[in-house]
Amino acid sequence: MPVIPAANAGISEITSNPVFSPCKICLLEYTEKSLLRMLIMPKVSTNLSPKELMQRLLAIQKERGICFHSLIKNADETIRKINEINRLKKEKNAVILAHTYVIPEIIYGVGDFVGDSYALSKNAKESPQTTIVFAAVRFMGETAKIICPDKQVLVPGIEDGCTLADCINQNDVISLRKKYPNYTFVCYINTTAEVKAECDVCVTSANVNKVVANIPSDKIYFLPDKMMGQNLIADFKKNGIKKDIKYFNGTCYVHEEYTLKQLLETKKKFPNAKVIAHPECLPEVCEKCDFVGSTSQLYNYIKASTDKEILLLTECGLASRIKMEFPDKKIVGTCTFCKYMKSNTLDDILRVLTKPLKRDIVTVDEKVRVRALKCIEAMFKYAEQ
Ligand code: SF4
Repeated sequence: MPVIPAANAGISEITSNPVFSPCKICLLEYTEKSLLRMLIMPKVSTNLSPKELMQRLLAIQKERGICFHSLIKNADETIRKINEINRLKKEKNAVILAHTYVIPEIIYGVGDFVGDSYALSKNAKESPQTTIVFAAVRFMGETAKIICPDKQVLVPGIEDGCTLADCINQNDVISLRKKYPNYTFVCYINTTAEVKAECDVCVTSANVNKVVANIPSDKIYFLPDKMMGQNLIADFKKNGIKKDIKYFNGTCYVHEEYTLKQLLETKKKFPNAKVIAHPECLPEVCEKCDFVGSTSQLYNYIKASTDKEILLLTECGLASRIKMEFPDKKIVGTCTFCKYMKSNTLDDILRVLTKPLKRDIVTVDEKVRVRALKCIEAMFKYAEQ
């Protein structure tokens, strides 16, 4: 990654606070000159000066219809932090994994890999570095630790929760197993290590349908995402797969926001738009979609499609990446953002690389880890059949 020019005296800071719009579903079109387009510049250009960066910021700040969540206030300082993190990465033999939902400064400034939880866990395993900085949420750091016990895993985000992973614990699963003794317990990857350890098979949003279809048992208890469980039932019904599926009551607070009413209203405004969604969305929403898939599958769908207008029902980060990486695509009708993912900052990454707090370092009890690993390995077995 190129080194970005250092601070430039005489550049005035943007002093007014950007509007941190909690833009549930903003229903505004993304503008062509987005904040993100500017933010990729440090990565691709060794010539961008802090002055140019600041000018772009000032121009962008005047625009409507972009997510201001990560609008940086001081280009000099941001550039200094990006350079320092990239220097420290080498010194500490660390790799930075950035989930698609984290802020663009991390994705395009310091991230070595960007993707969803499943893809990043594979990157964690395959990377030669001994330290993994997982810019995402805690359950993802735990998954990396389960797979790579010999590596140090650091989770920088201060708010590192997830409404799905936090809605069920080990004791809940133990009680449920007593209540449903003949059921195979299937957990979504968005669960803690302790919950995985109590379950039989893990799934991701990319492989849930295939894995559950391949499990020999016809009695499945799926946890924790109610929407994904209901979407699974709907898919099996459509495809004539007969299984008795019970599910837990958890939801992702980001994806449950999208309603059928909003979808239909946006479709009226953009009748040619292809509608694609994450399976954590409501079943009645997914039913009206042209495609439903994981973050990586949605990304690949857009990459491969010739459609120009897309109504993308998932966290803002993916819409931002699409806008940045496929500028000919017009993303309409987003976005909702995850406060947990967006809590990762460049300062947090600097902290974990220099003086990590106890809470930054992911630890998983060895007995729990071994059992959780079995649950993840069962997923690979059924996904490959
Ligand atoms: S987007 Fe939803 S599922 Fe993903 S980390 Fe945030 S709360 Fe959890």
